[in-house]
Amino acid sequence: MIRVLVWNEYEHEKKEEAVRAIYPAGIHNAIADFLRAEDVTVRTATLDDPECGLTWEVLRETDVLLWWGHHRHGDVPDEVAQRVQEAVLQGMGAIFLHSAHKAKPFMRLMGTSCDLVWREIGERERLWVTAPNHPITQGIHGFVDIPHEEMYGEYFHIPQPDEQIFIGWYQGGEVFRSGCCYNRGYGRVFYFQPGHETFPIYHQPEIQTILKNAVRWAAPASRIDALGCIHRETPLEQI
Ligand code: ZN
Repeated sequence: MIRVLVWNEYEHEKKEEAVRAIYPAGIHNAIADFLRAEDVTVRTATLDDPECGLTWEVLRETDVLLWWGHHRHGDVPDEVAQRVQEAVLQGMGAIFLHSAHKAKPFMRLMGTSCDLVWREIGERERLWVTAPNHPITQGIHGFVDIPHEEMYGEYFHIPQPDEQIFIGWYQGGEVFRSGCCYNRGYGRVFYFQPGHETFPIYHQPEIQTILKNAVRWAAPASRIDALGCIHRETPLEQI
């Protein structure tokens, strides 16, 4: 069983009717609902839970964490962000969605500003597959059209991805590295750009396929309990 935790800031849905109309139970529950499968268990956590719902106990029982955040990145305590980073280095998979490009754990894992160019006029995005043989792009044929999305454009200040699997093109002319895969320690990290809160993007079947694939890709084959240097005093061979 793959144990998934969907984390959401859960702010827009409570405060904005337009967002609540699309995600009445919150973005986290919308994502959790389509991820549940025979071999996938899903829990959710939000910013206002004690310790953001991200204690070590929870993280040790999580194979893949999905993260949606926007307005309140700064309210995630540094120790929680560090804990998530360490869990990834130990093997936990992490999927950062849309405006989570500025989430503290993502920025720690990248080590760069993760700044980008943006515009919010609801233009069309065409999400192009650039790695048709990648596990995350299976079932997606060529491209996905997203009728309305917030534009995220280059330059995106990230480290060069280990695998670039999607490029987004926008009606206004920009392009963006919309699907980026990284290895960090024992863990796998996927950044996926689609998912602005005022458009029903997580209801779109192709987007759900991509996230289901991403959960399976990010699930760890093995995991270590702790990080630290090992002092091997005795050589393996006689010197
Ligand atoms: Zn947005």
